Amino acid sequence: MRKAVLVSLDAFFDSDFQHLRPDGGLSRMVQEGCVCRHVKTVFPALTYPAHVTLITGCDPADTGIGQNQPYQPDVPGPGRVWYWERKHIRVPTLFDAVRSAGGKSCSVLWPVCCRNPAANWCFPEVHPLPGENIVLKTLRYGNPLFILGSELRYGSLRKGISEPGLSDYASAITIRTVRTKKPDLTAVHLIDLDEMRHHHGTFSPEAVSAIHRNEDRLEMIRKAMTETPGMEDALLIAVSDHGQSDISVTVNLTDGLKKLGLSDEFGVQSNGESAYFFPKKTDADPDRAMKLLQDHLREYGILRLYSREDLDRMHAVSGVSFACEAADQVVFSDGLDEEKREKATHGFGPGHKAENCLFAVWGKGIRAGTEIPGMPMRDVAPTIAGLMGLSFPSARGTDHSREICL
Ligand SMILES: [Zn+2]
Repeated sequence: MRKAVLVSLDAFFDSDFQHLRPDGGLSRMVQEGCVCRHVKTVFPALTYPAHVTLITGCDPADTGIGQNQPYQPDVPGPGRVWYWERKHIRVPTLFDAVRSAGGKSCSVLWPVCCRNPAANWCFPEVHPLPGENIVLKTLRYGNPLFILGSELRYGSLRKGISEPGLSDYASAITIRTVRTKKPDLTAVHLIDLDEMRHHHGTFSPEAVSAIHRNEDRLEMIRKAMTETPGMEDALLIAVSDHGQSDISVTVNLTDGLKKLGLSDEFGVQSNGESAYFFPKKTDADPDRAMKLLQDHLREYGILRLYSREDLDRMHAVSGVSFACEAADQVVFSDGLDEEKREKATHGFGPGHKAENCLFAVWGKGIRAGTEIPGMPMRDVAPTIAGLMGLSFPSARGTDHSREICL
């Protein structure tokens, strides 16, 4: 099996290529390796569904991860649990494929990978609920020795979970793991750019600086790989999960349902730039609800409605009656989520200007300057499996590894 280091640059999308530095880590990967600038994200374009598709090769309809959080209509935002644990994913992951082939793997802040029996070293991505201690929770959801060793060496790099310190910390852990443990698969999730975009805007100077920091992190990881005996032939793979777009108007869809007399039948889960409608009773009538909403699209900041048939075509998760897409500048609220006052966000559907994500591969045997014109996000995991020489029959996507290799 060929080793690989998989780096997720959260919220990087095709418009960002113009901001790369000619001598930066990602520019080097594009020039010396293979790139796809149009990896179509999943619906909705959210971090957890996309990251699960990236490591399973399956869409949300198959993985069961169609949101960051399960639907919790009666719980205010800060108290809501997320899909933190591996057990929520219904299909095998690349970590399972590595384990089946007798290899070892490591995940650093990779979503929905806490308590993952297939990972040998796990630094978990998990958030404290009100009253919970983040340190104790992190130790419970990952590998305590790995976490404590990381914290002792690199704890000074981060300030809580704020950026850019958290991504510097995650990169340092990744580099040390590559140098000392040489896992067959190392997967790390860098959140810096996503945070900067939410707080400062899609193309803010802060976001562009985060793109440059991510290039530096990629270059440091690449350097560690090339300097480590046993890792010289490993592949460096960069991916992303969604872009973002600016927002200025918040629409409370729970209030909207109340005004239309639909709140007894349906509840709302906001995905940011889209929303799910869940039935509250067995005879809830989505056709009637969609007809009523259709007459109030502008009032509620809705660009379009998606029927269940539309959602099936989009490989969306089951259980949702229908959904809607936000108009430009609009973000949806369910009335109980946190007031975040963000400047940009995501969660949109197909055809959005920020849907084109990244896939880049660098390493020996990769045909330099290859460009894959476009692919659905479910193609990423089988392509990685193909490059690593792993059997991964559960993936629904296409393996492009033969197009990439010499
Ligand atoms: Zn994300």
